[in-house]
Order: sequence, then structure tokens, then C-alpha cells
Amino acid sequence: MNNQNLTRALNLYARTLEFTHENEFKIKSYQNAAEKIEGFPYLISEDNMNDIEGIGSAIALKIKEIITTGTFSQFENFFSTLPESCMEFFVVPGLSPKKAGQIYRELNVHSIDEMLQASRENKLLALKGFGKKTQEELIECLEYYKSNKGKFLYGHAVPISQTIFKEIQQQSSTLKISLTGEMRRGSNIVSGIEFLAGFENEIPDNLNFNGLRKDDSNSAPLAWRGFYDFINGTPKNNFEKYLNLLFPPVPVEIIFCRKAEFFRKLFITTGSKEHLKPLLKNAPMIPMSEEEIYRANNLPFIIPELRENLFEWEMIKENKISEHPVTLSDIKGVLHVHSRYSDGKNSISELATHCMKKGLSYLGITDHSKAAFYANGLNEERLIIQKNEIEKINREIAPFRIFHGIECDILSDGKLDFTDEILKELDFVIISIHSNLVMNEEKAMKRLLKALENPYVTMLGHPTGRLLLRRKGYPVDHQKMIDACADNKVMIEINSNTYRLDLDWKWLKYASDKGIIFSINPDAHRTEHIDYMQFGVTMARKGGIMPQQILNCMGVERVGEIFERKG
Ligand SMILES: [Zn+2]
Ligand SMILES: [Zn+2]
Repeated sequence: MNNQNLTRALNLYARTLEFTHENEFKIKSYQNAAEKIEGFPYLISEDNMNDIEGIGSAIALKIKEIITTGTFSQFENFFSTLPESCMEFFVVPGLSPKKAGQIYRELNVHSIDEMLQASRENKLLALKGFGKKTQEELIECLEYYKSNKGKFLYGHAVPISQTIFKEIQQQSSTLKISLTGEMRRGSNIVSGIEFLAGFENEIPDNLNFNGLRKDDSNSAPLAWRGFYDFINGTPKNNFEKYLNLLFPPVPVEIIFCRKAEFFRKLFITTGSKEHLKPLLKNAPMIPMSEEEIYRANNLPFIIPELRENLFEWEMIKENKISEHPVTLSDIKGVLHVHSRYSDGKNSISELATHCMKKGLSYLGITDHSKAAFYANGLNEERLIIQKNEIEKINREIAPFRIFHGIECDILSDGKLDFTDEILKELDFVIISIHSNLVMNEEKAMKRLLKALENPYVTMLGHPTGRLLLRRKGYPVDHQKMIDACADNKVMIEINSNTYRLDLDWKWLKYASDKGIIFSINPDAHRTEHIDYMQFGVTMARKGGIMPQQILNCMGVERVGEIFERKG
């Protein structure tokens, strides 16, 4: 059992305790244990579990049981007393287990559909603590969950697709393989992973992909269809059943074709239908490359990410398509990174060392501001301590440079969480909304527009607050927001966190036309999160953004100058 699953097991158990309205102290102790284990750098075993501070003997026993049996008895007992369909209550993002428990017991509701129906019939209003607003929020949350079933985050699918790619390669070295479909276009949400495999004379015999489960009824001679499972085989206990709900099997399709047709097939399986429509007629049957297909249509090559029938034709007219779209290797530094000063897991030096190893030349530390108390946000005094530490490290590691920034909360009234006197001392300022996310568009826009007027703001962070597949985010008028950024010379972040990918790629062209400079930011809370950058880069490519439009594709000196100008 890895630490991640152990963390999940303890968190889930805490949620079952909320469901049965157990005392808060007990719930908290499991949540704390989960958090400790998540941050523990070594694989937890019986030998080292005593090294983790703050885990009581009762929980230690449970951890031991989970490590040896893969689950624990109280947990198994809890789920064996519930109808099986109730387990889904525990995977709906935003559904409080406490409320779910109350609805289950008092209204005899046994599934998500029944809960939705009861809510729509106003039955929740009869329950203690439920008002019209709670009921509406619940309906929205359940509908959002249902509408996203069978969808996966691009950022979660990428590592899986890389594993499968290697597996196909291993099965047969003669196949020519490429990712295709939504994944190749870099859609931020995907419904599966598709590959194209070109063979010389015939499909290799006895293909048996390790880690994939074939769906015989849906497969065909030229199409292998099946699933990538997180849980191997049939779930052996309730915890595995839960993991299966949390991480449903990902549909995988491998389409085979003759090598001669490879590029035509790749072209056809990659682009959206609307993108392909005008091009198919002139597409050669046996092209040597995709470029050849576009050439036959008198067009420059269009990168897969842009084949959405959204910007590409306009960009061709504007002569912007043939220029160099950003790639990961254009990135010179990362600018939205949290350290241990707030809710990050690493020290500033650890983060800097990591970035240097990655070949980057600068790092922007942006911890949370004081209003984000839940994230251990910085007050003025701690901000000064941090500034001194950064100056000291900077002297030691030059020419690598750490910029001292902040992710400053936009308060409910649109004011910023620090005074101008404090903000102007910083190298740069990201402003973001983290609290009171439930608001109408008018309120959200007032809040944003006011904040954007502050002269010390460098960039707007995750503009809509959305978490893909988890929550919609507050409603914003994108055009107005982007216009205000342009007017106030505020850059816009392309947040690379797999759940955010915000500003949404569909708005990048509009922002680009307004002359906005973007910053592709990892919003890292630990060193490994720096790797999120690849997802932000993919989104930027979907918007046809070029390196010269991206702040952190610029060298350290230039970025320093730009920050100076703003402050
Ligand atoms: Zn944030
Ligand atoms: Zn952040």
C-alpha cells in the first residue's frame, strides 16, 4: 500500500465518521494522520511509522492493519451495512458526508439519483439545517458530478498514456505509434485515451498489453478497445471498490492501420470533425506526413492542439499560424510557487535547487497572504522574514534568481489583502480569489475589476477559481475581465495545475489579440508540481500562444526589468 492510498483510506474513514455524525475530535485525528502521511517522504511501513509525529496508538494500529490487509475492519463493516449504491456519496466533490448521512437516514435516500430527485422535490427543506440555498447548491453539485461522469483530467491521463505508449512499443518494435484524438489535441478534459498504431504487413500476433483489460465485445480486427484500471482485477474489498469509484477505468482505444496510411489516419483521428470537414476532400490517400495534407489544401501546418475549428482559420488569415508556438523548452523560469512559509511542502532553498536542476534560471516564490489563514498565509512580519531569507539565498546562488512575490488574496470587496506600502516592496504580485467563491457575476466582476486597478498588481491568478470536474468556479465576464487586465497592464496567468488550467484556453486568442502577456505558472505546492508546467504549455499551444507573449519564456534580466517597471 503506497502512502497516497493510505492517505485516501484514512481520509475516507474520516468521511464515514462525518457521515455517522461522530465526534469532531475523532474525525480531526484521522484527517491529521492522513495529512501527516501524505507529507511523509518515505513509503510507510511498520518499521518507520513510529517516526511520524502526532499519530496516536489507535490510529497507528489501523495503519498497521491497512498496510498488512489492504483495508481495515471498521471501515469494511461500515460499508457492509450500507446499500452499495451509497458508496458513491463519498466520491462526489463538494458533497458533505455529514449532510449526505442526514439525508440518507432521514429521507431513506440510497443513491445519487434518489438524492437528486428528493432535492428537486423540495424534500430536503424538511431537514434540520437545510434551507433553500443549501438545497439548490446540492442540486448543482450533484448535477455537475453526473454531467462529468466518464470524464478524466488531461493532466491525469498524460502519465497513463505515457505508460501505455511504452507498453505498445514493447509489444512490437515494428509498430509506428502515436497518441491521437482528444489527448493529442490536448483537451483539458478527455473521455479516454486513443492511439494509432501503423503496421508493415500485418498486425503482430498475440498482442497482450500489460496493465490493460481488453473489452472483447467492443474490439474489432483493426481496433483494440479496453480499459486502463487503477485497481487490478475485481475489487477485493470495500476500499478497493471505493478506489474504483474514485478512479474509474479509463477507456483505451488502439486503432491499427497500414504504415502507408498512417499519416492520413493520424490526421483524421486527431482533428475535430469540423476541422476536418473542409480538408478531407483534398487529403492525399498515402501522404508522407501531415504537413503534406495541409500543403495539398494550400495551408500551413496546423499543430494538433489547434485543430478545434476555433482559432486556426482566423490565425491563418492573420498570418500567425506558421510562427513558433510555445514548447516546454521555451520556459526559462517558474513564477507561482508556494513554500513552507504558507501551504507548500518544501523550503525555498529546496525549491530553488530543484528549479536549477531542471535547467531553469529563476523562480518566483508566491506564498499566500494573511486572509488565507487556512493555508498559513503570511502576515507583514513573516513576509519581511521571508524577504530576508530570499535575499540571503540569492547571494549564494546567483546567477539563478529567486523573485519575491506573493499570491495576494482579493478580498470580498475587491480590496487587496496587503497595503500598497507592502505590495510595492515585493518583486511581483499575483492576485487571486480564494474565499467567498459563491457569488453572482456582478459581484465577481466588481471584485475583480476593483482589484485589477491596484497599480502594484503584476498578474491575475486562476481567473475563475474553477476546479475541473470538481467545481465550476465563480461566473465571470471573460471579455470584460481581459479588457480590464489589458487596460491596467496586468498579465494573466495560465495556471497549469491539472484541475485549474485557468485562464481557459478558449479565451487565450481574445486575450492575445488584446496584447495580454501571459505567465504559465505551475502553482506548485511541492517540487514535483513544477512538472505541471507541461499542461499549461499545452493549453497555451491550444490558444496559439507564442513564446514572445509569455513572461516566463523571457530571460531573468528581462523579467527583472518588467517587474521593476510595474512596481
Ligand atoms: Zn491560488
Ligand atoms: Zn497558488
